Amino acid sequence: MGYSPPVTYRAEFRCFAGCPGSWPVTTAIYRCPTCGGLLQVMHDVSALRAHNADYWLRLFDERYHGHTWPYGSGVWGKKEWVMPEMPDDCVVSMYEGGTNLFWAERYGKQLGLDDVWVKLCGNSHSGSFKDLGMTVLVSVVRWALQQGAKIRAIACASTGDTSAALAAYGAAAGLPVVVLLPRGKISTGQLVQPIAHGALVLGLDTDFDGCMAIVKDLAEEGLIYLANSMNPLRIEGQKTVGIEIVQQFGWQLPDFVILPSGNLGNAAALYAGFKMMKDLGLIDRYPRLVAAQAQNANPLYLAWNSGKKEVAPVTAKRTEASAIQIGNPVSAPRAIRALEEMDGIVEQASEQELCDAAARADKTGLYCCPHTAVALAALEKLVARGVIQKHHKTVVISTAAGLKFTEFKVKYHEGTIDGVQSRLANPPVMLPANYGDVADAIKKHFD
Ligand SMILES: *Cc1c(COP(=O)(O)O)cnc(C)c1O
Ligand SMILES: [Zn+2]
Repeated sequence: MGYSPPVTYRAEFRCFAGCPGSWPVTTAIYRCPTCGGLLQVMHDVSALRAHNADYWLRLFDERYHGHTWPYGSGVWGKKEWVMPEMPDDCVVSMYEGGTNLFWAERYGKQLGLDDVWVKLCGNSHSGSFKDLGMTVLVSVVRWALQQGAKIRAIACASTGDTSAALAAYGAAAGLPVVVLLPRGKISTGQLVQPIAHGALVLGLDTDFDGCMAIVKDLAEEGLIYLANSMNPLRIEGQKTVGIEIVQQFGWQLPDFVILPSGNLGNAAALYAGFKMMKDLGLIDRYPRLVAAQAQNANPLYLAWNSGKKEVAPVTAKRTEASAIQIGNPVSAPRAIRALEEMDGIVEQASEQELCDAAARADKTGLYCCPHTAVALAALEKLVARGVIQKHHKTVVISTAAGLKFTEFKVKYHEGTIDGVQSRLANPPVMLPANYGDVADAIKKHFD
């Protein structure tokens, strides 16, 4: 079982809707020239079937958290399924993936559940799951440059985490990066990351959807290379999350996977990972997918729960879950397919519900970003409705590190989030520096 993959595995771009035509993954192309729709990466699954399920899971286990570069990465350890023809010397990796699958024992017990797990994707180089997709995209750009492509800069519109990941991977590879951010709508923690990494940071007087519209035009004109998840390369890296969760359970499936969802690339990615495992015989069914949206930015919730197969754009309202404050999700058709195949559910959470869920989870040792809190609030609602029960193995995907969202935590515990009651606030007690006052405060708190 060697580390260098046979060269016969192949992957290429095809139209997501099935129009004819295919393009090398190093081509700067973002939509189907025939129908104008999304593209996808298609793998030569019949070539991968030359090996049985046992071969693949043993190969992946052997590499997991290992030291043979770049296969210790959670993404590149599954290289044959991700980007099989990528030359190793083009890979830009920061040992992404392989994140803790946290048994949320106390939090689950409070809901009457025995088997709740939180996949901490934010415990990563730039602090969010976006690293998983960005390692693939930036590596492919390096590969394209090696083949002689002319690329001025890699660019994205972002609600914060995409730009942080792109800026970090771009800087590691020495490639120029441009990020378009909605001014005043992302956390300081996220804003400072691309600044520190030397990206050209453009703060626009609009929302995420406004930034997205402009960056798409820049890409069509060939001014920049597009790093948003409209580019299917991102999905290839992100799909390893589903595979890794099953791997961490000893190749057993959970019953539910709950995912905070905005632009819907990650929902599509999760399905892509499970589909690959099913196609290659590692699993024989799918878990149920739960897409969790903020009620203030809920176009998928509105469409899915009224039986629609198309997602109509809405104007996203302000939400503490700023990374999913998206009204016109680019990957909507991909997400609809994922929901159809995975017996999907779409839930939503109000600002009050997400704040309560974050505070409850934090008190059991988690440190939730507001998006993860949206997923936890969805879990709480599905338990209340009897859909998720005591024995169900449920995984909540935590998409970012709570430490990027200090303002959210501070405002909650100060009780200053508009329209939200901070029922679980735990403000610090300020005291003079003398023994008596300190002793009294401790007695008062615990007696
Ligand atoms: C990007 C992001 C999401 C949403 O993922 P999509 O693929 O856009 O649905 C959720 N949470 C965090 C923290 C993110 O950065
Ligand atoms: Zn097409």
